[in-house]
Amino acid sequence: MPVCNALTVDLEDWYHGYCAIPSPAVAPDQRRVRPNTEAILALLADCRVKATFFVLGSVAAEDPTLVPMIAAAGHEIASHGYSHTLVTQLGPQRFRDELKKTADILADQCGEAPAGFRAPQWSLGPSTAWAMDILKEQGYCYDSSWNPLPVVGDPRGPRGPFRVETTRGGLLEIPPMVSRSIIGNLPTGGGWGFRFWPRSMIRRTIEGLNGQGLPAVLYLHPRELDPFGPRLPLSRFQSFVSYGPRTDASVRLRELLKRYQFTTLKELAAAWQPA
Ligand SMILES: [Zn+2]
Repeated sequence: MPVCNALTVDLEDWYHGYCAIPSPAVAPDQRRVRPNTEAILALLADCRVKATFFVLGSVAAEDPTLVPMIAAAGHEIASHGYSHTLVTQLGPQRFRDELKKTADILADQCGEAPAGFRAPQWSLGPSTAWAMDILKEQGYCYDSSWNPLPVVGDPRGPRGPFRVETTRGGLLEIPPMVSRSIIGNLPTGGGWGFRFWPRSMIRRTIEGLNGQGLPAVLYLHPRELDPFGPRLPLSRFQSFVSYGPRTDASVRLRELLKRYQFTTLKELAAAWQPA
């Protein structure tokens, strides 16, 4: 049987990158998350793929019709926290408060509490073990934040799902896809790397992981389907990391969604048997 992969969407707006603009400062007519999400849903329907949406609680609160629309199409609703503040900046109590607040909003809007979590900008990993304890305490089944990349994560980390021991028992970690290279792991699962590196390299990575029985976890932001949408005033480096090549990510994504098998992270987590 072919290995199932996962497409994940970090559901936030164009101004959430680098937390540069607090969301109340953006007028409703400046928001772009809804049309971009509709474009993602149309793509998923066309490719008959169910995806996992890590929803930012503040975005769900601002537009209470978004989550029901995504859930009605059969996709998984998971949590991306509330304010897009880095986990390292929140600390344990505010992290717990954000988790609860977001879970309440999402459960209210789609009838089910989130089973999975992804931290803003991969800000959860081996150095924030306390956050895994709190996820377990709050009833989460999995996390998808430990990016095996230099700078933003731990490049020595596993490329496939693994169990993290917390004080309350094990929690499954499902890392995003990276490609091995002679200069280290490269971001090919999403963001600028997904739009930048050759398609053949992305396909090879997916097939390499699947050949080892591991899922490839891709990630996408709604703003990546909106290459000429508004941009934050960022430094050159941040700007490249955020926007990289100005292309519509859905073009190459469509190819992959049609070529390989995809399911939600919740389903992958439920079926996961460690090797
Ligand atoms: Zn995010």
